[in-house]
Formats: sequence, structure tokens, C-alpha cells
Amino acid sequence: NAPTAELQALDAAHHMHPFTHSADLAKKGARVITRAEGVWLNDSEGERILDGMAGLWCVNIGYGRKELAAAAARQMEELPYYNTFFQTTHVPAIQLSARLAELAPGNLNHVFYASSGSEANDTNIRLARTYWAEKGAPERKVIISRWNAYHGSSVGSGSLGGMKGMHAQGGMPIPDIHHIDQPDWWSEGGDMTPEEFGLERARQLEQAIEEIGPEKVAAFIAEPVQGAGGVIVPPETYWPEIQRIVKKYGILLIADEVICGFGRTGNWFGSQTMGITPDIMTIAKGLSSGYQPIGGSILSDEVAEVIAGTEFNHGYTYSGHPVACAVALENLRILDEEGVVKQVAEETGPYLKEKFEGLAAHPLVGEAKIVGFMGSLALTPDKASRAPFAADAGTVGYICRERCFANNLVMRHVGDRMIISPPLVMSKEEIDTLIDRAWTSLDECHARLKAEGLMVAGTR
Ligand code: PMP
Repeated sequence: NAPTAELQALDAAHHMHPFTHSADLAKKGARVITRAEGVWLNDSEGERILDGMAGLWCVNIGYGRKELAAAAARQMEELPYYNTFFQTTHVPAIQLSARLAELAPGNLNHVFYASSGSEANDTNIRLARTYWAEKGAPERKVIISRWNAYHGSSVGSGSLGGMKGMHAQGGMPIPDIHHIDQPDWWSEGGDMTPEEFGLERARQLEQAIEEIGPEKVAAFIAEPVQGAGGVIVPPETYWPEIQRIVKKYGILLIADEVICGFGRTGNWFGSQTMGITPDIMTIAKGLSSGYQPIGGSILSDEVAEVIAGTEFNHGYTYSGHPVACAVALENLRILDEEGVVKQVAEETGPYLKEKFEGLAAHPLVGEAKIVGFMGSLALTPDKASRAPFAADAGTVGYICRERCFANNLVMRHVGDRMIISPPLVMSKEEIDTLIDRAWTSLDECHARLKAEGLMVAGTR
């Protein structure tokens, strides 16, 4: 490889980074990741970095699995590409669909492929509206989602998401998307108990449906555990109430399993962990552990039957790409045969939970919440009152993330929450290293916030 400075200069000159202030990054230079093995990344300077984020919530199986590379190579030689439009199909798409139908809960038995989570959620908008149109209710178009949720970056999926900064830049949301508040007790629960707050937030769905008019609402979409918005674990009362409401009004429930799926919460799907029965699930990321771009929607028998009754004018060149399907199949085989999902549920998951929750003793951490292998730390200048920082939340989170990165640990920040989502194959010893590095980074962040006069409480 070329020297780091040369690579960084080329990167700054020609590469626009997603979700990044590229001009700012160009001044510092992006860290160049060159190789990875297990849960460890190597950079171009020879540093070893512990990956606490599984790439970007993707690499459930860990890096460097030769079986996945071999599956891709085999498939490329045999049949690198063919489409699944009209009258053709191929073996990897058939086998993967059948396997997903086995793994998915309840009557979710039918797969419509995409190459990413964003594409799949765009598909879901079309699916939900087509479903109602075919059932003779074309006015049922509104999809209800949540503020601060993330469902992708295309105009459709970005509209489903509730990131106001994103909406402001792209003329989003598109019509007939409605948002309600998220069940974030730590930040927004006020004097309510988590249980009261969970019910209050769920009932916003009922209020929204009544205000919009039940005859106009097609679906509600949410992650079982909100990941990208900051790993917001909902209070226990939330999902049962949501489930009651969608049933009462007969609207479709779409569970976005892009992060929660494929073992992350200790079950194959987050819907199982949270006791949800969705009509459609969005899948991506962990489906192939990020080794190939692939996503999709898994439909219930009922939804699939209605959609199959018409020509659904939607699809992507790479829907069910054979190489991506072959790699996903191999990934699912390994997750299953090596007992990775079980391990998260019964061994390393409980171990990580105990250690991660221990971080709540740090003076900067108000709350440590974790489900399976996804967790977050709410940073605060005042634990007792759950106060936010007077300074911009992003500034505080950014300082903490930088300290982690300097200590060769990848954690992410969303506002003033710090997030982990490690590869599911992380060992207990590696978990100890993660916790040690997180603690050291929190200490350094705390010292810097104090030195800069930023440990000051603000108001919500
Ligand atoms: N849904 C969720 C919950 C996600 O976290 C993401 C990606 N972070 C997406 C959808 C979009 O997936 P992709 O980036 O593959 O388009």
C-alpha cells in the first residue's frame, strides 16, 4: 500500500464520505482501514483497533471468514449474475428465501429482495400502499413512523426516518408519512415511570391514527429496539400496547430488522425478543454480515397473497443477486452451526450485559442500557436529574467518540449517547478489553469536558 499520507490526500481529493462534513475530515485525514480479522481492524499505520460497532452494525459473524469468500468465488464462477424478473430464478435466491422463511417468526414466509436496507424500506412503502389498494382501500396511504428513527437514506426511506437534519436537506418527507415521538424514557420521560411513559408513547400511535383518520392509515414502521437513533430500548409496556393498537385498527406492522436481525438481540430477530408479530420485516446488514450488499422484505402469508394477485411494478436489477444470496446463505449456516445466536443469548450476551451495565458507575454515565449485543450509554452532567448538557449534545458525544478512537476502540455517538454493537463473535476476553478501553475513554472525555467548562447542565 501507498504511505498513509498519500492515501489520505487522494481520499480528500476524490472521495466524498457519507454522513460526513467532508471538508472537515479532509483537514485531519480519515483513518485508512486495511485488513480485519475476527473483531480486530488494522489500519495503514499498523495499529490494531477493537471493533465495537461491527463495521456499521453489519459484521455479525466477524471479519476474515474464508468460507464466505469461497462461497462468493464459487458463485461468481458458476453464475455471477442473472435477474429474477419475469420468468427466471436461480438456486441461491430460492435457497435463501426458503431458509429465511424457516428462520423468520410466525407466518413470515415470502422474501422480496433488495441490495440494502434503504432499498428494502422503499419497497415497503410501495408494498404497504399496494396491499391496501388491492384490498379496495387505495386511500390507505399514510405510514406512521417515529421521530429520530433511521430507516435509510433514499428519499422514501429517509422520509420514513425521523431525522430532522436529513429531512431539511432533501425536501423530505414525501407526502403521507407521519411521525410520532420515540419511547426514549431517559431523555423525554420527565417524572413518569418508564412503564407509564412506554404506554404514553405507544398511545401516541392511537391518537395519530384517530387524527389522521383510520381509513387513511396503511402501516406503522419501527425497529424492535431502535438502533441507529441511539439504541433506545423501549420500556416493557411499549410494544404490547403498540401491538394492541395496530390490531385494533387493522394496520400493517413493519418491523425494521436491519440492525436487530440475525442474532443481535439474542434471537434471530428483534421481533422475537420484543414479542412482536409484524406483517413485514426489513432485513439487510447482518443477513450477509456485510460481506455482500443485500437486503429485503419478508412478507406474511396474508400480505404476500394480496401482492401476488397483481403485477407488482417494483424491483431492482440486483434484487436477489446470486453472489449476495450465496454469501448470505453461508453466513446464516455459520451463525447457526457455530451456535453464535445461542451464545449471544446465553453466554457472551449476559457477560457483556453485566460488564456494560457496570459502566453506569462512571461519573459521566447516567444510564447504560443493553439488549443482546446492542447497547448505549447516556452521558450526562447530572445523573440525579437526568439533565442534558448545556452544550450541544453532538459536541459532547463527538469528544467521547474521538477519545475511544484514539484508544483504538470503535464506538459510535448519537448526540450524547455512546453506542456499542460489536461483532457477535466477540469473546469474553475481548469484551473485557472493550470495557477497559471504554472506561479509559470516558475518563479522558470527562477530564476534557471539565477542563473546557462543559460539565454544565442544560434543560430539555
Ligand atoms: N434501517 C435501519 C434500522 C438501519 O440502521 C439502516 C442503516 N443504518 C437502514 C435501515 C438502511 O440500510 P442501508 O444503509 O443498507 O441502506
